[in-house]
Amino acid sequence: MLELFKKAYEGPSEELLPSTRGKIIVDADSCWFCTRCERACSTNAIVVDPSFRQIYLVQSECTKCGRCVKKCPRHALAFER
Ligand code: SF4
Ligand code: SF4
Repeated sequence: MLELFKKAYEGPSEELLPSTRGKIIVDADSCWFCTRCERACSTNAIVVDPSFRQIYLVQSECTKCGRCVKKCPRHALAFER
């Protein structure tokens, strides 16, 4: 029985369902590291570290709400399918 469960769950899938908006991608070359997207995100799926000029996305926490995309003054965020 344990083997059956192990086989059934192989971790979170990266595969997108046809009805989803896709996943958030960032163009790091356009990013100012202003943190507006981080402050707009209600699930902490996006973290900006201005001191190291890094931006992190946790896709599994993202609800695809699009708030970060709308807030970005540099159009550095987008949905990709
Ligand atoms: S809002 Fe845009 S420019 Fe600002 S940190 Fe986020 S991705 Fe970068
Ligand atoms: S789409 Fe919404 S949930 Fe996903 S990173 Fe942007 S603000 Fe956060």
